[in-house]
This record gives sequence, C-alpha cells and structure tokens, in this order.
Amino acid sequence: MAQKKRSVDRERYRVLKEMLGDRRREVQEKLRSLRETLPVEAGVVRDAEEQSVDDFVTEVDMALMQMKSETLSRIDQAIARLENGTYGLCQECDEEISARRLKALPFAALCRTCQEDTETTVRAEREARAFARLQKELVHVTLRTGGRR
Ligand SMILES: [Zn+2]
Repeated sequence: MAQKKRSVDRERYRVLKEMLGDRRREVQEKLRSLRETLPVEAGVVRDAEEQSVDDFVTEVDMALMQMKSETLSRIDQAIARLENGTYGLCQECDEEISARRLKALPFAALCRTCQEDTETTVRAEREARAFARLQKELVHVTLRTGGRR
C-alpha cells in the first residue's frame, strides 16, 4: 500500500485529533448506554406478541449498536490515518478529499465519487436483504393465519 503522504500541520493535527477523540468518546458512551438497555434473555416465557415487541426493540437496538460500532471504527481509522499522514486522502483512489467534505465528515475515508460508488452498491445489497426478509415474513404470516382454526 504505497500511499502518498501529506503533511498535516501541527495545529490542524491537534484540532483534528481532539475532535476525533471527542466524537469517539461520545459514540462510545452511546454504545454503552445502548448495551445497558438491551433486554436480558432470562429464559422467561412470554406470549408471542410480547416476544415480538421485544424482538423488534432488540433488533432496533442491535442495528443502532452496529451503526455506532461502525462509526467508532471509522473514527479509529481516521485517527490512524492522521497518525500515518494519509488523513484526507481517499482510501480508494488516493485523491485528496475536498476540504468541504472533510469539514462535514471529518472521518470520511473516501472522496465523494468513491463514496457514491460504494453507496450504490450498499444500497442495492440492503434492498436485496430487505426484500428477502419481507418475503420470509410474508411466508411466516401466511403460515400463522393458515394454521388458525
Ligand atoms: Zn476516491
């Protein structure tokens, strides 16, 4: 991985590092409180409706937690790039990420073009997954109502 280096002046480095560190703590804090609110599986038998509400809450919390962990690792990566002098360079095409973009997204790893490419792929995958899940749920619902006498 031969990436070109860019010297970040000390003041900018300090400001960035502090800001990334703050964001990191903030996300970590949220992650911790999310973990605490997750219902504990205590082997309690509940009716199906209760269970499905709980499942839904857990699912949302899990999704949130995953998002936070991803943000956390993105921040860590940004800090690492700051340390090794590749901060502000696109990890995909090696071009400089615009200052405006970096200001809005301090831990952006990709330039706008590469990000949009990735998002298109991710969105397509997400839609495919959502569709598969919907199909599964439909089968489930059909089975349930069909089994009722
Ligand atoms: Zn790029």
